[in-house]
This record gives sequence, structure tokens and C-alpha cells, in this order.
Amino acid sequence: MKSLSTLKAIEKYGWPYFRTKVCELTLNYNCNARCVFCYSSPDMQQWKNSKDLDIKTASSYMIDSYKSGSRIVQIIGGEPTVYPKLAEIIKIAKKIGYPVIQIVTNGQKMADCSYARSLKEAGLNTATFSVHSSNPSMHDSIVGVEGAFKKMLKALENASKLGIYISAGTAVNAINYRQIPRLVKFLHESFGVESYHLIAMHFIGAADKNNRNLAVSYSQTMPYIREALSFLSSKKIMPIAAVLSNYQPCILPGCEHLISDWQIPFADDDLYLPEKVYKESMYSMITNSLRMKGKNCKKCIYYNICAGFEKKYFEIYGDSEFRPLKSRLRPFPIPVFYSR
Ligand code: SF4
Repeated sequence: MKSLSTLKAIEKYGWPYFRTKVCELTLNYNCNARCVFCYSSPDMQQWKNSKDLDIKTASSYMIDSYKSGSRIVQIIGGEPTVYPKLAEIIKIAKKIGYPVIQIVTNGQKMADCSYARSLKEAGLNTATFSVHSSNPSMHDSIVGVEGAFKKMLKALENASKLGIYISAGTAVNAINYRQIPRLVKFLHESFGVESYHLIAMHFIGAADKNNRNLAVSYSQTMPYIREALSFLSSKKIMPIAAVLSNYQPCILPGCEHLISDWQIPFADDDLYLPEKVYKESMYSMITNSLRMKGKNCKKCIYYNICAGFEKKYFEIYGDSEFRPLKSRLRPFPIPVFYSR
């Protein structure tokens, strides 16, 4: 069963033709998985006793963000599907007028067809599934739940049948980086997935604690990332948004348009957490707290607009991989619908 293509989803759901501001809504920190790389692991001390966002506050955040230009609401956690009133939140988002209503999920609960249908009927039209390998035991061990891959397949099948647009999010780490091309191929051939979000590991939360097992350098992963991109290019598909996150132009010259977060943003998204609000400052806040530039960056054409690389990455691998660019290369042939 193939999922909707990007162009069909845009037409079917009346999505805007340009990228708008995003209202990113974190409902909770609970989760029914225990991913080894989780940046907001529910086991972490700071979130152990955190309360969920209540419906009234969530509604007022969504209204506020809509009024200031957001047309994409991205509902995350923790795991949003363990939030008991997720369908109600989705219904409210629809009533406010958001054309793009998205969740980011590990797929465990959406394996239940009637649950998946209840979200669709409430107004859900796109879901990003966190898939970390096409090898069942590798995926299960990364997310810390036996049988998780099997449920993920069922969830992808349910979403495809229901006409929910699918994208896949993958945390690239030392365990799975060699099989990234296989994963992309598998998801495209089995479910018609056109949108991917390959995220170089953020050294925060559980990932920081486990960094001995998870850390991998950009140089090690690049051949596999390039192979995956070449496959996507050969299929002439159009991802809805940039396919890479936490990469820099000097690591992948010519792929600037495929990286979601390398630039210091000129317009920023909203981030609503149960305990805090970052209005129009999500990427800036993340960039300022996590990233740095290297000793050679000043010579790079992107020096004034590049957000740099993670400080924790520098502690492990140094900055020798970040070589200044002298000119811009011809863009790698993958068109992106909503590029930043
Ligand atoms: S500014 Fe530095 S990190 Fe950014 S692209 Fe240039 S060399 Fe790479």
C-alpha cells in the first residue's frame, strides 16, 4: 500500500504553496519507547515529574501562533499518542484553521487501526514516523521495545490506507548509519515515502549519556548519506521539506537546500513546551545554546549566515572536518517543496 505523494497531499489537503511559520507543540514527555538517543527522554531528571500540557493552554498557544502566521502545527512529545486527548487537540487545530496538522510519532499506537482512524477523523493529515532501521532487530534495539518494528509497519500501512501523508524521521548514529541507504530504499519501495528527515545525532539527553555507543563522525556517515540522496534523486520525487538536519554546507556542498537548520533563521518558528514558551525563537534558541563555529569558519562564504556545528561534536571530533567553502556548488538534484 503506497502513501500519498507530496503533490497529491498538497492538492488533497489544500496545504499552502510556501513554507509558513510552524507552531511546534510539545504535549508531554511521556513515552512508550526508550530510544537510546532521545533528547527529551522521560527518564531524565528534569522531566521526570513534568506535567502534560493541558488542553486549554494548548488551544491558546495554537490560536496565538496561528494569528501570528503559523499554518503548520507540529505536535510532538515525548510521544504525542500517549497523550490521552490527542484527538481533541487535533480537532481544535482543525477548527482554528491549520491546513497542515502533523504529529511526530514512534508509530506504536497507530498500529491500532481504529486509533489511527480516530486521529484521521479528528483532522490529522500528516505524520512523521520515527524509523531507525529496516532491520527489525536493529530498529527494536534502538527504540528499546521488542516488536516495535512490526508495529511500525502496521502503523505505516494504516496511515497509507487512511490517506495520511507519511514522512520518516531517522536519527543517524553509530549503530545504523551504514544501512541508511537500505532504509530509504525500503520505505520508498514499500510505502512510497517521499519525505525523509535524516538527523545527525544531537549530543543531548540520552544521546549524550550514551555517546560512546552512538557517536559517529560526519566523515564516516557521508558515503551512506550521499548514497541515500542519490537514490532519492534517481526516483525524481519531491520531499515536502529538507531531508537533512544538523549538517553543514561544508560537509555536503551543494546540499544547502536539503538541510533544514544550517542557517541562522531570518524568521523563526514558535516552540511551546509544557513548562516554557519560545515565541518566534525556536531555532535561534537551539542554535545559541548548542552550536559554535570553528577556527577556519571565518574564511567561509557562509560565515555570516551559518549556525555552525554542535559544541559537543567538537569535544569528540574537533573541527577539522569543517573546511571553509570558497564558492557555491550547483544544487544537488532533489527539489524540496517547503524549503527554508
Ligand atoms: S561557516 Fe564553518 S561550519 Fe559553516 S559551512 Fe562554513 S566552514 Fe562549515
